[in-house]
Amino acid sequence: MTAGGTPAEVRSACPYCGTGCGLLLRPDGQGGLEVRGDPDHPANRGRLCSKGLALGETLGQEGRLLAPQVNGRDTGWDSALDLVAAKFRQAVEQHGPDSVGFYLSGQMLTEDYYVANKLMKGFLGSANIDTNSRLCMASTVAGHKRAFGTDTVPGTYEDLDEADLIVLVGSNLAWCHPVLHQRILAARAARGTKLVVIDPRRTASCDQADMHLKLRAGSDVALFNRLLAALYEGGALDADYLRHVEGLGAALEAAFAADAAVTGLEATEIAEFCDLWRRTGKVVTVFSQGVNQSSSGTDKVNAILNCHLATGRIGKPGCGPFSVTGQPNAMGGREVGGLANMLACHMDLENARHRAAVQDFWGAPAMPERAGLKAVDLFRAAGDGRLKALWIIHTNPAVTMPEAGAVSAAIKACDFTVVSDITAATDTARLADVLLPAAAWAEKDGTVTNSDRTISRQRAVLPPPGQARPDWDILADVGRRMGWAAAFDYQSPAQIFREHAALSGLAGRFGLDFDFSDLSGLSDAGYDGLAPVRWPVSRRRGGRFFADGRFYHPDGKARMLPVRCQPPAAAPDREFPFRLNTGRIRDQWHTMTRTAQSPRLSGHLGEPFADIHPDDAADLGVKPADLLRLRSPHGQAILRARITADVQPGDLFVPIHWTGETAPSARIASLVAAVTDPVSGQPESKASVAAAERFQASWYGFAVSCRPMAAGTTPGTDYWALARTQTGYRAELAGAAPLHDPEAAARQLFALPDAAIQMMTDSRKGIARVALHQSGRLAAALFIAPQPIAVRRSYLAGLPGTCTSGVLTGQPPEDLPDAGPLVCACFNVGANTILRAIETGRLLSAADVGAALQAGTGCGSCRSEITALLARRRCKPAAE
Ligand code: SF4
Repeated sequence: MTAGGTPAEVRSACPYCGTGCGLLLRPDGQGGLEVRGDPDHPANRGRLCSKGLALGETLGQEGRLLAPQVNGRDTGWDSALDLVAAKFRQAVEQHGPDSVGFYLSGQMLTEDYYVANKLMKGFLGSANIDTNSRLCMASTVAGHKRAFGTDTVPGTYEDLDEADLIVLVGSNLAWCHPVLHQRILAARAARGTKLVVIDPRRTASCDQADMHLKLRAGSDVALFNRLLAALYEGGALDADYLRHVEGLGAALEAAFAADAAVTGLEATEIAEFCDLWRRTGKVVTVFSQGVNQSSSGTDKVNAILNCHLATGRIGKPGCGPFSVTGQPNAMGGREVGGLANMLACHMDLENARHRAAVQDFWGAPAMPERAGLKAVDLFRAAGDGRLKALWIIHTNPAVTMPEAGAVSAAIKACDFTVVSDITAATDTARLADVLLPAAAWAEKDGTVTNSDRTISRQRAVLPPPGQARPDWDILADVGRRMGWAAAFDYQSPAQIFREHAALSGLAGRFGLDFDFSDLSGLSDAGYDGLAPVRWPVSRRRGGRFFADGRFYHPDGKARMLPVRCQPPAAAPDREFPFRLNTGRIRDQWHTMTRTAQSPRLSGHLGEPFADIHPDDAADLGVKPADLLRLRSPHGQAILRARITADVQPGDLFVPIHWTGETAPSARIASLVAAVTDPVSGQPESKASVAAAERFQASWYGFAVSCRPMAAGTTPGTDYWALARTQTGYRAELAGAAPLHDPEAAARQLFALPDAAIQMMTDSRKGIARVALHQSGRLAAALFIAPQPIAVRRSYLAGLPGTCTSGVLTGQPPEDLPDAGPLVCACFNVGANTILRAIETGRLLSAADVGAALQAGTGCGSCRSEITALLARRRCKPAAE
C-alpha cells in the first residue's frame, strides 16, 4: 500500500508478444487492474501497444475454469491428479516411456517450463515434450545451431537504436511487435535509419519503409543468396572476421548458382537493396514468422546469417541478424530445453556427456538418448494410438496446428488427454478427459525471457479464483504422486529459478552460451525484487555474443551454409489455384482466449476475413463485403472477403485467431497442410494452396445483444462470427438456405422466447429487422437481408441495454454522430470521427490527426489506417 492507502504499483511483464514489455500493475480493489507501461523496463521504456493497454479489460472471470474436472464433472485436486499420475505411470509401464507426451506453450513461465521438461525428460524418460513454439521459431533455433553451434540470439534491442539500416524479413512488426516497431521509427526519426521490408504482402510495416520488396512466397533464400554474391562482388566481405567462419566457399558457390528471378522482383530493385546493404556498415536483419513458418525455414535463416557472418556484421552495436519471437516466453522455453530435440540450458540431448551431467544434477532415473516427437508427429502419434497419455498446457492445438481437423480427431482418439488452462471453453479443452484449472498471467509468479534475452519477472497481483493453481505447482504435484518426492519438492518459483540457474552453470562448464548461474544464489527476496536482466548475466561479455569471433562449434568457429532456394512444398494448380498465407492482426492474440474479452480490441477487426486481390475478386465475381468460401485438400472455411491490392494476384491472406468459440467456419489452420521443414520440424503455415469461390448466401445477418448469443444453434447458419462490445455482443451471420421465419430465428439466437417484439419485414425483398425488448430496454436486435447488411454497426453495438425504440432504422439519428469502425484502440477513436476531423480541421498528416484526436499517439500501430483515411479524404473531398 502507498501512504495514501491505494495499493502500490507492481512491476510485471506483458503476457503477449516476444517484445516482453514491462508493466506497472495496480489492483483496483474490484478484481481488476490499472495497467501502464513501465518507464524503467529496457524493452519498452513505458510504451505499450493496444493489446498491452487493454490487459485490464481481459481479466473477467466469465468462463474461468474453477475446479478440476474429470469427464466433465467437477472434482478435487487429489482425485484429478491421482488419476493423471496413474494414467501416465500405467502408459509408461505398459507401453514404454515414448507412449506419453506433453504439448506446452510459449505462454508458460520459465519455472513452469523447467518443471515440465524435468518431469518428462528426466523422470518419465521420454523426449516427447514439444511446444507451440515449434509453430513459431523452431527454424531459427535450428538455423542458429547450424551456424553458431548453439541457439544464441546475437542481437539486442539497443542494436535497433544504433543501426543505419534495418531489414524486416517476413515480419509485420508494426502489428505483431508494435512497441519494437515504434522504437525503430523513433531511431529513424533521430538518425535517419533506412528501413526495408521484405514480404509478399504489403503490411502496415511498409508505411514508413524506404523500400518494400514484394517477393514471391518462399523465395527469400534466392534473394539473400543474391545479396551474398553481391557482397562478394562488391568487396564487402570481412576477411578478418572470416577467420572465425568455416564454409564461405560452398556458401558462395550456392549463392552464385542462385536464380534471383524466382523472387519475381525487378533486377533493379534487387540491385538497389544489395547496394544499400553493402554500403551500410550497421545493418540489423529482423526476421520472424514469414521466415520460420516454411518447409525451408532453416535454410532461410541460414541464408540471412550467411550475409552477416561474411561481412562481420554480427555481435557489434547496431549489427546482426535478429529473430524476434512471437510468444512472451518462447525464449524461456528454449532455455529450459522445452522442445523435443533439446536437453536443458542449451545442452544437447544426443551428447552423452551433457546427458550424464543433467541426469546426475537432477538425480534422474532415466534419460532419453534421442529426440522425441516434434509437434506435428506428436499429434500423429496421438491419432494412431502410439501415444497413450497426452498433457496439453496453455495452448489450443485443435485450432492452431496445421490440419487442425485431423489434430482434433487425434486428441479425441488418444486414450487419455489432460488439458491445463484457464478456461474450459476452448476447442481443445472440450476434448479432454481431465481439465486442470490453471492460474492466469496476473495470478502467478515467475520469469519470462524476451526476444533479446532479457529475463523479466512476472508477478502475481490478483488471487487465483476457485481452485486454480500455478502450472509449476500442478506439474510438481504430479511428479510427487508418481513417486519422485524429493526431485519435485518445490515450494516456490524462486526455488525452481535457483535450480535452473545452477543447472545453467553446468552448461557454462561445457563452454556453452546459456549460463546465468551468477543468479543461482538469489534469495527469495532477491527473486521478488529481481530487475530485468539480460543473459549472459556476467558482465564479462557485456550482454553481447560473437563480436569476438568465438562460436560454439567444437572448433570455436561459425559455419556458413550452402543453401539453395526451395519452393513451398505444394504448388498452386487448377484445383487449388491460390497461395494461402496466414498471420496475425493488430489487436488480437493467438486464439483470443483473453483479447476477445476486450470490447476495445474486438472493435478493430471484429470478424475473420480473407484478403484477396481485386483482379482475383473480379474473376470470382466477389464484391466488397461478400463472403468467400476457401477450400484446401485438408479443410474449408467461410470468411468475409476484403478486396485489396495489399496481396499479390493469386495470393490470399487470412488471420489465425478465430476458433470454434468465435467463428467456427474460420478455423484457418484446418486448411493448412502439415508439411514441415526437414531440419526444424516447423510447419509451413504461410504457403498452403487453396481454392476460393464466392459463398452463395441466401441471407446475411447482423445482430447485437446484451447477452451471449447461441449463433451456432440457429438453423441454416453457415457462417457466424461473435465479438464483444461495450454493451454485450455483436455477431455477423449468413446462410445458404433461405431463412423463412426471422422472428423464430431471433428468439432462438438470443434465447429470449418471451421478450416483447418490435419487427419490420419486407418479405418481397427478403428484409427483416427484429428487436427484442425486456423491461422497456433493448435486449437484442437482428437485421436480415439478402445482401451484406448495410447498417451502422458501431452505433447499433451501443444500443443494447438502452431504452431505445429507433433501433430498426439501423442508423443513428441525424444529430448523433457515429464514430464509425474502430481505428485507434488505444484512444478509442473511430474512422468517421477521424474523417470528420480531417475535413473540419483541414488536417493534412497523421501527426495533425494525433494532435487533434490523440489517435495514433499511443502504440502508433493504427497510423497506417489514419494515413489511408487521409488519402481517402484527399481523393473524395466533398462526397462523404
Ligand atoms: S508490444 Fe504489445 S503485445 Fe507485445 S509485449 Fe509489448 S505491450 Fe505486449
